[in-house]
Amino acid sequence: MIRQLVSLRVVKEVNPIPNADAIELIKVRAWNVVAKKGEFKPGDVCVYFEIDSFLPADDSRFEFLKKSGVKKGADDKERIRLKTIKLRGQISQGLALPIEQFDELRGLPLAIDVSDRLDVIKYERPEPKDTNAAGIRPDFIPKTDEERIQNLWDKLSETEQDTLYVPTLKLDGSLCTVAFIGSDMEDQWVMNHEDIDEEKKAIEVRHADTGEKFGEIIVCSRNMQLKYNPDSHFWKAVENARLPDILGDIGEDLRYSIAVQGEVCGPGIQGNKDKFPNFKFFAFNVFNITTQSYYDYTSVMGIFEEYGIESVPSLQHAFKVFKKFSTIEEILAYADGPSINAKYREGIVFKPFVNSSKDSFKVISNKWLLKMET
Ligand code: AMP
Ligand code: MN
Repeated sequence: MIRQLVSLRVVKEVNPIPNADAIELIKVRAWNVVAKKGEFKPGDVCVYFEIDSFLPADDSRFEFLKKSGVKKGADDKERIRLKTIKLRGQISQGLALPIEQFDELRGLPLAIDVSDRLDVIKYERPEPKDTNAAGIRPDFIPKTDEERIQNLWDKLSETEQDTLYVPTLKLDGSLCTVAFIGSDMEDQWVMNHEDIDEEKKAIEVRHADTGEKFGEIIVCSRNMQLKYNPDSHFWKAVENARLPDILGDIGEDLRYSIAVQGEVCGPGIQGNKDKFPNFKFFAFNVFNITTQSYYDYTSVMGIFEEYGIESVPSLQHAFKVFKKFSTIEEILAYADGPSINAKYREGIVFKPFVNSSKDSFKVISNKWLLKMET
């Protein structure tokens, strides 16, 4: 799914905020945004900047936001990050400005991403520094991103009334992929291997009886492939979960190259809000590298159970999410609640129960955004 960080949108509603003279609450997509009073009426087009937009601080149109602080972006430019805020008791997410302030966007269609034209980038929290990078994550392994419910609500609440979803706990750690690369990938993999030669970047997997090598296990963070190092956070989590052995077994049984993706949590990772004493791997996806496709939730759970892989917890059985929740507020309220050990959870990732061609999506807890997000 292509993310629309900044886009032209229609203002759907304009509502007063009790006891506020200068501001009012507008609705854009399924987001509530505080705006200057009188700036918009329903049906107006605005430029909408989603939360985690990282705005250029030298653009005078964002000047008024500078007082909330500037940060250096990865490009070394001073930038302003849009976060969830509360104003007069109202949650406000993102920024809506009148189209009249943006000559460069005149005449563009609604809903396309215009972040490039305004030099807006997405704010990314720093990943834990891993000095063990062996290179870029191989491109036959995808990374996992989830779209926010506020951008999907209007559509899914109509089209997915009968779709079953499983609510899984969203853990606030780091994405990690462990993969078994078998001989079917030799062509692509050997090429990739040569770049890094002398560094140990994989564990070899050998047949127990013959000792013959039939594949390799690699570990990747969100963007990098990591050298084998039993002291790194990622490798510790992977080895604690016995994933090298397990993936070797899966590869041998299924005769595919296979990746398991999960969230690594533990000391030093995103503040370790769940206070795990050791590094843990909570699996949530299985990707078939050979066929370049994800398994659906039921198959994934089957694999996890058969091979003894710990998964992200689910909150309850699959249910028809868009029958149970008839407003965005209801599904957002469901996302609030405790995590495994922490008082507040980051939120929930809803996964389609049977059909992997349907999108999963995330519902981030507003309580968490206001109290815990860093
Ligand atoms: P975000 O952290 O907002 O970028 O959301 C997507 C990321 O959430 C994924 O790339 C995973 O690293 C992470 N994540 C944590 N828990 C889950 C879960 N239960 N299902 C899917 N992704 C998860
Ligand atoms: Mn995350």
